[in-house]
Parts: sequence; structure tokens; C-alpha cells
Amino acid sequence: MRVKTIDLDELKGYIHGFEDIEKKGMFTKSRRHNRNIAKSDWKTIIRLMSCKSMVQPLDPHNSSKMCSRCGMINAPKGAYYECEFCGMKTDRQLNASINLYLQMEGLTPSPKPFDELMGA
Ligand SMILES: [Zn+2]
Repeated sequence: MRVKTIDLDELKGYIHGFEDIEKKGMFTKSRRHNRNIAKSDWKTIIRLMSCKSMVQPLDPHNSSKMCSRCGMINAPKGAYYECEFCGMKTDRQLNASINLYLQMEGLTPSPKPFDELMGA
């Protein structure tokens, strides 16, 4: 795996949001998944980022289940997200990222600004 290095001075002046995740609720029956979760050191990444830029912890609750367009809660399966209420279809990680961005900006999901931003 190729690792991209980042010049930490490039991060000054930006606010970076990170989900405030606890590992204990993320373990499943999959040994491989559990190993990857156990090896991940997000707290160190956040600590290092906070030395060079502002870091904002974000509430991860429903970030991957909530529709970033209408705010309704769905039960996505796999890597794909489809809202049963408004019909939005997208990548599950992209949907969660938009929800976290909205949280950072103090906004809630709403169809009109979402459609304007996404050029629907
Ligand atoms: Zn929706």
C-alpha cells in the first residue's frame, strides 16, 4: 500500500472535522474487520492534526444512516445508499461525509440546498 505524506503546514487555517468514534462499538463477527479496526489509530491522527490546524469532533450518530438530502433515517446495506423517502441514490461513504460536513456547518439536511449544491 502506498502512503501519501502530507506537509502539515498545508493544514494551517483549515478546520478539520473528525467523527468522534469509539472502537468498542465497531467490532463484528469478522476477524479480519476486527483486526483492521484494532490496528487503526484515529486518536493519534486527530492529535497530530490538532497540532497544526483546528480540529472539530463530530457526532457520528446516524451519519451513515441519515439521508443527506431529506434527513430521514434509512437502513443502507453495503456500499450503496438509497433513501426510501426522497429517492436519493449515492455512495454510502459520500452520504455520510455530506452529513458530517452539514454538521460542521451547523446545518441540517434539506432538499433545496442539497439540490442546489449537487446541481440536481
Ligand atoms: Zn432522503
